[in-house]
Amino acid sequence: MTEGFRGQCLCGAVAFESSSKPMFQANCHCDDCRRSGGSVYASFAFVDETNLKISGDTKTYESLSDAGNTMTRHFCPTCGSHVYHSNSKAPSRLGITPPCILCMRRALASQLWSLVLWFLHLGNRRTENRRPEDRS
Ligand SMILES: [Zn+2]
Ligand SMILES: [Zn+2]
Repeated sequence: MTEGFRGQCLCGAVAFESSSKPMFQANCHCDDCRRSGGSVYASFAFVDETNLKISGDTKTYESLSDAGNTMTRHFCPTCGSHVYHSNSKAPSRLGITPPCILCMRRALASQLWSLVLWFLHLGNRRTENRRPEDRS
């Protein structure tokens, strides 16, 4: 497993192993992803299902995305960790939740940097929204 990665939920009842590295990573700031992840955005590392082996049963929750696609989120029924999701638009592409990935120092550093950029963006927006008379 030189290119791949593996991971698990908080309690270990659901585990996965990918034979390839992620095709790409993405952050989603939509209301559903923020609510399901309990954070200001949700991150996903996408892999094709043919490269992913998942063990353990999951509980699922389906919702409609803003684009009208069905999002199926898979959670561990024991500890509640959101492990991965699929989207009806590209059903064979699974979005793994990065915090479940083991040995991912580099991926975490990338996510932390994204969070810093996002807060900087918010700070800039706050500045832009000030009325001219409020600016010093
Ligand atoms: Zn679990
Ligand atoms: Zn989203």
